[in-house]
Amino acid sequence: MAVQRTLSIIKPDATRRRISGRINAHLEGAELNIVAQKRVRLSISQARAFYAEHAERAFYDDLCAYMASAPVVVQVLEGEDAIARHREVMGATNPADAEDGTIRKEFGLGVQENSVHGSDSPASAAREIGFFFSEMEIVG
Ligand code: ADP
Repeated sequence: MAVQRTLSIIKPDATRRRISGRINAHLEGAELNIVAQKRVRLSISQARAFYAEHAERAFYDDLCAYMASAPVVVQVLEGEDAIARHREVMGATNPADAEDGTIRKEFGLGVQENSVHGSDSPASAAREIGFFFSEMEIVG
C-alpha cells in the first residue's frame, strides 16, 4: 500500500460541541498522521465552491449554509492507504447506517450534521487539499 494524503474536515456540529480532540484521537488511533491543520470559518461562497460537485443535489443550499454556520477544522492526514482508511474510520454518510466504533456512529447527529468530511478518491484529495493548503503548510 502506498502512503497517501487526504483532506479531513471537522464540521460545525463537532466544533460547536468541542469534540475535535475526541475525533482526532480516532484518526490518530487509526495511524493517520495530522500533517497540516487550521481552523477556518468558511463563507457561503467558499462552501459552495468546495462542494461544487453537489450543486445539483436538493440538499446543496442547506449543506453550504451549515458548513458556513460555525468554524471548521481542516486537516491533511497522511498514512498508508489514507483515503480509504479515513473513510473507514469516519463511517457511512448517515450516522444511522454507520458501523459501531466509527466517528459518525459515535458523534454524528444526522445525515447532514455528520461531524466529519473525508476525500473519497485520489483526485478529490488532491483538489481538496489544494483548496485549503499550500505545500509549505503541510509538514509530514
Ligand atoms: P460523504 O461526506 O460521506 O462523502 P456525500 O459526498 O454524499 O457524503 O455528501 C456530502 C455531505 O453532504 C455529507 O457528508 C452530508 O453532510 C451532506 N449530505 C449528504 N446527503 C445528504 C442528505 N440526503 N441530506 C442532507 N445532507 C446530506
